[in-house]
Amino acid sequence: MSIATTNPATGQVLKSYDPMSDAQVDAAIERADLAFRDLRRTTVAQRGRWLTAAADLLDAERDETARGMTTEMGKTYAAAKAEVAKCASACRFYAAHAERMLADEPADARSVKASRAFVRYQPIGPVLAVMPWNFPLWQVMRFAAPALMAGNTGLLKHASNVPQTALYLEDLFRRAGFGAGVFTTLLVGSDAVDCILSDPRVRAATLTGSEGAGRSIAQIAGRELKKTVLELGGSDPFVVMPSADLDRAAEVATTARCQNNGQSCIAAKRFVVHTDVFDAFAERFAANMAALRVGDPMDPATDVGPLASEKGRDEIDAQVRDAVGRGATVLCGGEKPAGAGWFYPPTVVTDLRPEMRMWSEEVFGPVAGLYRVSSYAEAIEVANGTAFGLGANAWTTDPEEQEGFATHLEAGNVFVNGMTTSFPELPFGGVKNSGYGRELSALGMREFCNTKTVWVGRGETTAGAGAHAE
Ligand code: NAP
Repeated sequence: MSIATTNPATGQVLKSYDPMSDAQVDAAIERADLAFRDLRRTTVAQRGRWLTAAADLLDAERDETARGMTTEMGKTYAAAKAEVAKCASACRFYAAHAERMLADEPADARSVKASRAFVRYQPIGPVLAVMPWNFPLWQVMRFAAPALMAGNTGLLKHASNVPQTALYLEDLFRRAGFGAGVFTTLLVGSDAVDCILSDPRVRAATLTGSEGAGRSIAQIAGRELKKTVLELGGSDPFVVMPSADLDRAAEVATTARCQNNGQSCIAAKRFVVHTDVFDAFAERFAANMAALRVGDPMDPATDVGPLASEKGRDEIDAQVRDAVGRGATVLCGGEKPAGAGWFYPPTVVTDLRPEMRMWSEEVFGPVAGLYRVSSYAEAIEVANGTAFGLGANAWTTDPEEQEGFATHLEAGNVFVNGMTTSFPELPFGGVKNSGYGRELSALGMREFCNTKTVWVGRGETTAGAGAHAE
């Protein structure tokens, strides 16, 4: 895949980049390794000042940065501005809370026969981040802010269609005060990942992307015995039970499906609706979806911009045509428009069956599948009937059902009477084929730390009750 900025609203290639040579990549890894030795000796307070400076730059440069993202991958300008603001606030969050998250955790010294025992969190070195284009700033920031605060250095291999945002990120951290080599963008294709992750100076990797990319990186990391965090795809259910506020559920369902032009890992994709309210919900939902305005992502009146790539648009079109060809019903949308740009209308499809691609595959665009169920138990079964397990939404005012969905939905994130989103305060990640490990919160920061046990005694043997020779 070539490394280039191509405007998805027009299909026009605006700027191309030559991939970095092997020697340039090697030099960048060396700089990241050297920078790590200095960064790990800085205080959390100092790193917090640099991260706060990065937040200030993001706030000051919000509009220009957002315009760049819209040009590269087609999200609406309003959504892009909100993404920049979210990144700034995540930087401030980690700057404010890292000291507490990284503080030594004392253990009960007496029970481990120590005079003192504690857990210390320490950085591990350069971490490779392989990132997707759909939230080109936020996906990187939710790795970078906690990782740099912990004292690690970062090597970013961003998606090949967002090189300008990738280069902006390197520049941002450098201008904020982090030294040369602390955060480096590698302009390389995915074929370079094996070599980079195999390098002994690179200690770990995080990937946000597709299941296929996750499997590939996990194989390399397994061979090299390196830690990985994988945030992969999702086919999130959005369950609507009879007690739900249907107007509100249909309104939130529309946003949950079409935010980011339908290209979010945690977008609700399968709408699992109780038969008692199915028709009423379907009518409201299809009407809301059909009313969304598709068009130029820079126009403030636009709700849904183009898909990020022609390949992505063709993929969802093929999934819809496959379903229709096998007997599914389209309630709105469903036709690929002619003309320039990779647009696709908000679409609702029902009468889905297991042999259709939409039943089991992730649909990465503004296309919703509607599923009718006749009981709470069947709602759980259909919601969990996927290989993915990223987010899940349930709409019900029944406290027993709320508790049941929270416990029984197989997902890393369950949102009741709302839509899945991410907060720096809460862990984020998936189960099943949606990956493993967690980002955000203290857990995300500690994924790339050595959780070191420290035991301080008075020289006596630790053999005896509770102590085991290894
Ligand atoms: P993708 O093709 O997997 O690309 C993501 C990144 O991985 C890009 O940098 C890509 O590089 C690289 N890559 C692709 N194949 C690779 C391989 N075999 N080995 C190493 N690196 C590889 O995914 P996408 O289509 O851009 O993004 C959409 C997917 O990401 C969806 O499945 C979505 O659900 C998922 N996603 C998940 C989360 C989450 O938090 N769980 C968040 C956002 C998106 P190139 O661009 O150079 O190919």
